[in-house]
Amino acid sequence: MSSIQYDILVVGAGHAGAEAAWAAARLGARTALLTSNLDTVAQMSCNPAIGGIGKGHFVREIDALGGAMARAIDAAGIQFRMLNRRKGPAMQGPRAQADKKAYQEAIRGILENQPNLELRQENVVDLLTEPLPATEPGRPRHRILGVRLDDGSEIRAAAVVLCCGTFLHGLIHFGERLSPGGRAGEPASLGISEALRRLNIEIRRFKTGTPPRINARSIDYSVCTEHPGDDVPVPFSFLNDLIETDQISCWMTWTTPELHAYIRENLQQAPAYSGQIQSTGPRYCPSIETKVERFGDKDRHQIFLEPEGRGTNEVYVNGFSSSFGRAIQDRMVRMILGLEKAEIMRYAYAIEYDYAPPDQLRQTLETKAVTGLYLAGQLNGTTGYEEAAALGLVAGANAALKLAGREPLVFRRDQAYIGVMVDDLVTRGVDEPYRMFTSRAEYRLLLRHDNADRRLTPIGEHLGMIEPERLGRLKAKESEIQRAKQLLESTHDAQGSMRKFLSRPETVWTDVVDKIPALGEISSAAAEQVDIDVKYDGYIRRQEIDVERSRKLALRRIPENANYAAMKHLRSEAREKLEKIRPVDLDQASRISGITPSDIAVLTVYLG
Ligand code: FAD
Repeated sequence: MSSIQYDILVVGAGHAGAEAAWAAARLGARTALLTSNLDTVAQMSCNPAIGGIGKGHFVREIDALGGAMARAIDAAGIQFRMLNRRKGPAMQGPRAQADKKAYQEAIRGILENQPNLELRQENVVDLLTEPLPATEPGRPRHRILGVRLDDGSEIRAAAVVLCCGTFLHGLIHFGERLSPGGRAGEPASLGISEALRRLNIEIRRFKTGTPPRINARSIDYSVCTEHPGDDVPVPFSFLNDLIETDQISCWMTWTTPELHAYIRENLQQAPAYSGQIQSTGPRYCPSIETKVERFGDKDRHQIFLEPEGRGTNEVYVNGFSSSFGRAIQDRMVRMILGLEKAEIMRYAYAIEYDYAPPDQLRQTLETKAVTGLYLAGQLNGTTGYEEAAALGLVAGANAALKLAGREPLVFRRDQAYIGVMVDDLVTRGVDEPYRMFTSRAEYRLLLRHDNADRRLTPIGEHLGMIEPERLGRLKAKESEIQRAKQLLESTHDAQGSMRKFLSRPETVWTDVVDKIPALGEISSAAAEQVDIDVKYDGYIRRQEIDVERSRKLALRRIPENANYAAMKHLRSEAREKLEKIRPVDLDQASRISGITPSDIAVLTVYLG
């Protein structure tokens, strides 16, 4: 029996696994990325797009840390749009349609060329572990030793990062037809859920769904509305200044009252309504049947027709996910305006899958139960490529840092959307698939997509993840920002400094360039930062005061082996929750749902 040795194994080369493997290898760990099919690396299981409000922030943050996602979408994007352009800077988000195949190739290229990283087509069916002696409360009971493959071979490693997406006991619903599968056309993964349960890791079920894909030549575009990309596409990666490829339009159309009536007539045949699907799905991505049922007063819903690539006719029918069977879908699709003659290339379906409630994880995404075992991506109860990728980066980096005996990588809620998500997941758990919204971040003005490099590249640099070009660009930008601010402060007219003039909402950058021609040399990226810093100065300072307050609480650390059972003055509900979550400090403890200020006061006394 073969026994190969690595530092870190990453299982599953989806969006989480790709960033996890990249980060681990980049930090010097000898890493293998094991995935059941090398032709589906970073496959987009659902919509052919990256980014959006909140999600676009993750892509920028991953990029600021050196990760792959932004570079890949810049190379593979076919239409770029900045969403919420008319709203304030904290509310905007970059989004791009992707050429799905080109995106996969771009990610695979980055991974194949990453030193310390091997890509292997392997199917993992079990986890190898050894028990640890029971010592203090809160200590792991097992240690990871590696994985077992479907042919019985073992691969050994000091850490394993599981990124299995929707594959664990995936069950596909297509009308009344149920079939095991990780996503359409690919087998489900069996064995890993059983191994996790054996290690006392709880497993639950969620569901999600995807719409049909149709052939572009069968669409009547004359009744649809064209949605072109931005005139000047903005790249995702801080390494890129321009997107020079041609952009392709998307199209918008509508459902019809007849279609709604038809769905209502057949509602009981949809698996989610017939009782066939019991698990919870993403609330903000409802199926068309749920939309029709939930918003009974609406007689039409928007549908976006999104090309899946440059070299294919396949079109993604965004807004039309469904779990109805073949015959009903055939009729439904053709009741959409412009799709009367649509040729369906792939039918919509829903999938139920296993996930591990994330309050079983530490802030590093290591499981509390098994030392050296990390979970990332959809397996953590999240949904979305960007969420998965961000979690992958955190898990892969932390696995490598722990092996090297270094400090963990934990972002605070005021440092990154990634920090907000990880903290939400491990502190509060999930009761529906978690996706990012800007409203989840209390310090939105600090955590903008446009300043992700200024916030995070220095952290990545400290860790050793940042390439020289990226660092050089950031340094040049920071010095331009400093120079511009000095010029603004030192130049006055009768009404005061130019900084004050720029702070007025109606002043635009070209107005100050007219007054200080030297500012014309400042790059647009640096000018944008100066403009936002100056205009939002008061709000930013206010957020910084709140941040300071929570940082003070965070200084009160709670020992990992805290014995809550012995804290008799705690309410039993509080004791149970603290026991389960094991917060690292009073700040995290105060965010656990059901923990009251008086519980924190009691805890403070014990810690004192
Ligand atoms: P995945 O992208 O699923 O990747 C998992 C990888 O692990 C795969 O490459 C697989 O081959 C590999 N793997 C699994 N088990 C093993 C094993 N035992 N051994 C080796 N390799 C293994 N997201 C949204 O934001 N909105 C949506 O509307 C939406 N709809 C979806 C609809 C469907 C039908 C599906 C399947 C997914 C949908 N998603 C949606 C979710 C989105 O696809 C995921 O959030 C994202 O892909 C998760 O990334 P991941 O890396 O965790 O997992």
